[in-house]
Amino acid sequence: MSGFDDSAERKMQFLFALRSKGVTDTRVLAAMETIDRGPFVRGLFAERAYEDMPLPIACGQTISQPSVVGLMTQALGVSPRDKVLEVGTGSGYQAAILSQLARRVYTVDRHRRLVREASEIFRDLDLTNITAMTADGSFGLPEQAPFDRIIVTAAAEDPPGPLLAQLKIGGIMVVPVGQSDAVQHLIKVTRTDNGLEYDELRPVRFVPLLEGLGKDT
Ligand code: SAH
Repeated sequence: MSGFDDSAERKMQFLFALRSKGVTDTRVLAAMETIDRGPFVRGLFAERAYEDMPLPIACGQTISQPSVVGLMTQALGVSPRDKVLEVGTGSGYQAAILSQLARRVYTVDRHRRLVREASEIFRDLDLTNITAMTADGSFGLPEQAPFDRIIVTAAAEDPPGPLLAQLKIGGIMVVPVGQSDAVQHLIKVTRTDNGLEYDELRPVRFVPLLEGLGKDT
């Protein structure tokens, strides 16, 4: 089989896996078809980039499972005019997907190295509507707040208060909630005129949201 057929086949299987796990939003699927996961997975695990699996990245972190990225993005209900904050840049893959759906994406990570490597990929792929910064995202990004959408890709014990405060009315936040080594649930929080509404979506497993900046900085 030629290289071309191989990659077309892999791509079809990748999209099939997403659909079979409940990613049905056509805009989300189109974004995930456009953004190749390959460049976001380096080193030893690069050849497994098209499997529906979380994989190790630098700084002891993980790139999320593609179907979970799809389901979280779908739950976020991003519109083309939205300003989105992601807490937990990691490899940059989730931010790259969001960049296809939103007007502007801010993404922060506590590891400077991850922010630097993700920024290089964004530049190579010409994803000019993403700004990546090193910061403790538990405090959000006050200078760019409020946000239409906030996605947290590390597990918090509770949805962080500063993030809730930086959500616009009508805004949506998706966050995994729970103890790091126990069952976590993906929670969707909607800010309405009358306060906050919570929906529990599904069990998930994420690395923990930690305080302060990473040691490599
Ligand atoms: N969204 C990423 C996967 C994130 S893994 C992707 O698409 O690849 C979770 C990330 O959250 C890790 O990179 C970790 O460093 C980061 N993180 C944990 N606590 C944080 C905090 N308080 N502020 C910012 N980033 C944090």
